[in-house]
Amino acid sequence: MHRTLTARDTRIDWLKSIPFVLIHLLPIGLFWTGARPIDWAVCFGLYVARMFFITGVYHRYFSHRSYKMGRVMQFLMAWGGASSAQKGPLWWAAHHRIHHKMSDLEGDVHSPKDGLVWSHVGWIISNAHDDTHWDKIKDFAKYPELVWLNKYHLVPPIVLGFVTYFVGGSSMLLCGFFLSTALLYHGTFCINSLAHIWGKRRFVTTDTSRNSLLCALITLGEGWHNNHHYYQSSTNMGFYWWEIDITYYILKVLSWVGLVSGLRKPPAHVLEKNLVVDNEDVGMAPSIPAPSIPAPSIPAPSIPAPAAE
Ligand SMILES: [Zn+2]
Ligand SMILES: [Zn+2]
Repeated sequence: MHRTLTARDTRIDWLKSIPFVLIHLLPIGLFWTGARPIDWAVCFGLYVARMFFITGVYHRYFSHRSYKMGRVMQFLMAWGGASSAQKGPLWWAAHHRIHHKMSDLEGDVHSPKDGLVWSHVGWIISNAHDDTHWDKIKDFAKYPELVWLNKYHLVPPIVLGFVTYFVGGSSMLLCGFFLSTALLYHGTFCINSLAHIWGKRRFVTTDTSRNSLLCALITLGEGWHNNHHYYQSSTNMGFYWWEIDITYYILKVLSWVGLVSGLRKPPAHVLEKNLVVDNEDVGMAPSIPAPSIPAPSIPAPSIPAPAAE
């Protein structure tokens, strides 16, 4: 397991966070450059495309292995994920696996039990979780190209930034790249913060995960977070037709043309079990009752009958 965090680990490292802060500040330059409809279109397009790479690839593929793809496709999709400037695929997936293993317990990397701001952004801008936990991602660490991308994870976003600048000038760089990257951060981070405190719980789980349509729309389907914590290995997170899950629809289309395969869904009988009854909400506390273990049958001691007087 990983080390215990000290107060020094959890302090904000402003020096390290300069690029992160700049990404938020640079879009202010749009007041000077102005933004054309094409800049807003690129902002929206790069938000949606990169959110898909985060949810469909970093999360549902690298973290949970909920479907399959070939090695070239795997690298291209990982490159797409890295273009969101959320570090490398192996760093991301290893930390996410720890989140599921330790959900809302000591050792969870971003539980709102340690503070809403910590779960949203603090764990990123401190030094607490900078390293890749290689022991948690051995299955993908065997691919040298992924190890390279994990190390040089800034290459894809820098390339993308230059492309937006050369194609559309300063306003496309500020709006299409920087603003969309900042929005993408907070859309993604909502799942670590809001999706554990806000929304409804369908399934009883040992964590605080919740389902929210708004979070699902912002993140292309990740807002069905209680569903996901309940049954992590399924590719879809919206378990019913009304639970909009755009990431899954895109993966389904990719499977039709053979680019991905082996998409998984939860078996019907699993969806009928462990339901939260009568809207009884379990809040922040672990709630699954301890299994009832039958008491061992110990033969009653034979007590000799008292001797009659
Ligand atoms: Zn997950
Ligand atoms: Zn979670």
